[in-house]
Amino acid sequence: MGLLIKGGEIVTAESRFSGDIFIEDETISAIGPGLTAPPGTEVIDAAGKLIFPGFIDPHVHIHLPFMATFAKENHTAASQAALIGGTTTFIEMVCPSRKDDTLEGYHVWKNKAEGHSASDYAFHMAVTHYDAKTEAQLTEIVRDGTTSFKIFLSYKNFFGVDDEEMFHTLKLAAKLGVITTAHCENAELVGQLQQTLLAAGKTGPEWHEPSRPEAVEAEGTTRFATFVEQTGAAGYVVHLSCAPALRAAVEAKLRGVRLHVESVLPHFLLDKSYAERACVEGMKHIMSPPLRDRRNQPVLWSALKTGLIDTVGTDHCPFDTQQKLLGAKAFTEIPNGIPGIEDRVNLMYTHGVKRGGLDIHRFVDALSTRAAKLFGLYPRKGTIRVGSDADLVIYDTSYRGAISAATQHGINDYNGFEGFEIEGRPAVVTVRGKVQARDGAFVGEPGRGQFLRRTPNHGPQ
Ligand SMILES: [Zn+2]
Repeated sequence: MGLLIKGGEIVTAESRFSGDIFIEDETISAIGPGLTAPPGTEVIDAAGKLIFPGFIDPHVHIHLPFMATFAKENHTAASQAALIGGTTTFIEMVCPSRKDDTLEGYHVWKNKAEGHSASDYAFHMAVTHYDAKTEAQLTEIVRDGTTSFKIFLSYKNFFGVDDEEMFHTLKLAAKLGVITTAHCENAELVGQLQQTLLAAGKTGPEWHEPSRPEAVEAEGTTRFATFVEQTGAAGYVVHLSCAPALRAAVEAKLRGVRLHVESVLPHFLLDKSYAERACVEGMKHIMSPPLRDRRNQPVLWSALKTGLIDTVGTDHCPFDTQQKLLGAKAFTEIPNGIPGIEDRVNLMYTHGVKRGGLDIHRFVDALSTRAAKLFGLYPRKGTIRVGSDADLVIYDTSYRGAISAATQHGINDYNGFEGFEIEGRPAVVTVRGKVQARDGAFVGEPGRGQFLRRTPNHGPQ
């Protein structure tokens, strides 16, 4: 049975026009005005609504053992929350610790997602050490369709790699033609500054940001870009949070380094005053890189508008109030992370497109198309065209509401964006032609999501 979407306004990264979309099986088979469909076709009236390609969140954590606990999420809930919010594909970070086996870690994560995710998904494979087995293991993982790596310059002794390991990872990535994403903060400086602050009795969440100042992120970004340049690899800076780090990335781009930049939802809308709130209210807003001084926000927004920031992810990584309180005595023990997978599209539409002068095509590009291109999913995902997967978001721009933990669908007891207004939300969300969410509710088939096998797309230039 087919599906016909009638009368919507189709908006992609490049174009905007009124038309119908006909879907057979799982892909788009026709786009145009006045389409008719055979009897038995389900028809959805999209008059007055926008139709976007399914959104892609390129940076999420769902299963995550971290800081003496586990992120409070599972694939069933997170994927349904994602769909309700218009995200039809997420890319999860596979993050074994330094002492874990890379290949075993990969299979642990894959098994967690399989049969439980309602949205489609892929992985970035974190490389948290580099030994005699690593090349063969990573080659096998790439052959399995996971064609992007992740390295941490921070989190020394847990996820973090040193410069030698970074060099070998990037050399291998260049050889395999895969892109490497990186958390760019100087681990040594963070560790030393943390100890200095704690020794001075500065233990509250308000000291998290001063322990990893902007310069520490700018240094990490510069160093990563230099290693990318010298190894001939392709790089992607995750969750870039501040103007000095952006300048470092742009300088590398201007030199011709194959470097791409992601910023994440919290840094566009929240500033460090949230983390300076007393006790657990501050702890709820602890993430790394930290929330920054407000003066960085207009810089991030204008870089997003011009495309210097390529993509917007979430770094969805929920810990609940009890878990945050693990850091009641020392900010260094607060689990880092904030949820966001359900809210990214609506908040960026509202505060970007509706209120912030963000071009609607750039919005689609940053939240879907460019991630699809960078991570080898395009044109299967990230656009609306004949032959693409029928991942569609029929968007109701007349909806008015506010973000609240009381109405969210992910597993957590707070929402870092509590009270933020939204002007618009998905009315209907399809994944490969099947309606999976409607008007703020999951109505689909749990476990229908597919692992997306990709092929290397960052070969030598
Ligand atoms: Zn992350």
